[in-house]
Amino acid sequence: MRVTRLFRTMLGFARSVVERVTIEREGPIKVAMRPRAGRERCGGCGGKAKRLHGTRGKAREWRHLGAWGRRTIIKSTVWRVLCQRCGVRTMDVPWARTGSVFTRVFENEVAWMLQRTDQTTVSRYFGISWCAVGRIAGRVVAEALDGSRLDGLVFIGVDEICYGRPQKYLTRVVDHISGRTVWAAAGKSAETLGLFFAELGEERCGAIEIVTMDMSAAYEKAVRDHVPHAEIVYDRFHVAQLLTRLSTRFAGKRYGWPTRSRRKRSSRHGGPC
Ligand SMILES: [Zn+2]
Repeated sequence: MRVTRLFRTMLGFARSVVERVTIEREGPIKVAMRPRAGRERCGGCGGKAKRLHGTRGKAREWRHLGAWGRRTIIKSTVWRVLCQRCGVRTMDVPWARTGSVFTRVFENEVAWMLQRTDQTTVSRYFGISWCAVGRIAGRVVAEALDGSRLDGLVFIGVDEICYGRPQKYLTRVVDHISGRTVWAAAGKSAETLGLFFAELGEERCGAIEIVTMDMSAAYEKAVRDHVPHAEIVYDRFHVAQLLTRLSTRFAGKRYGWPTRSRRKRSSRHGGPC
């Protein structure tokens, strides 16, 4: 079996041809490829391009999953194409997502691992930057996002997720019936949640009956503004937390128990709490 044929079978990329394989004593395995002739597609919409644009293509490289413990690089010439819908765009290649320097298979592997461990571990394992891992996650999620995920929402929950240092927030909306996260955006304000309702549209907003949330005034305002007919149900955990805090404060006043701030202060100075 010829090496090029072996690599074509091993890589399994559709609509593409392996032209040459370079294996040296040291360094990465380099596979020169090209999309099959006459199958040029637009990198913007993925549709079939009208024709190639310009006379010169650009040499590009993509990192693929390693083979036999060696780094594998895919090389190809990328052209600009004329698309009826998007105008002049860089052509789409079958083995990678538009704008990426990694192959589709490599990115899928990174995304799979990212679901099981933290971003720093993933970046060290694959030998890519922390930011590159984030961008890969964005591309994979954007592609896999189900367009119908916002249809038929009736019973939803809104929650905030805190992350990073200094602290940043993410607003998340879940569908309680399917148990899936259907929407998320940076921030925790009424405007942030308002973006979700704007994306949902008037008709789908009208179908929402119940919204569960913590006792956030911002989220409550957004719900009152956009889905005033929906019933708001406060999260049991946050209600219990508030009741515990109030009863502790009441008992403190009544029986002279130290307050939370006094307890913190005395424990910091090593005193009794
Ligand atoms: Zn296009």
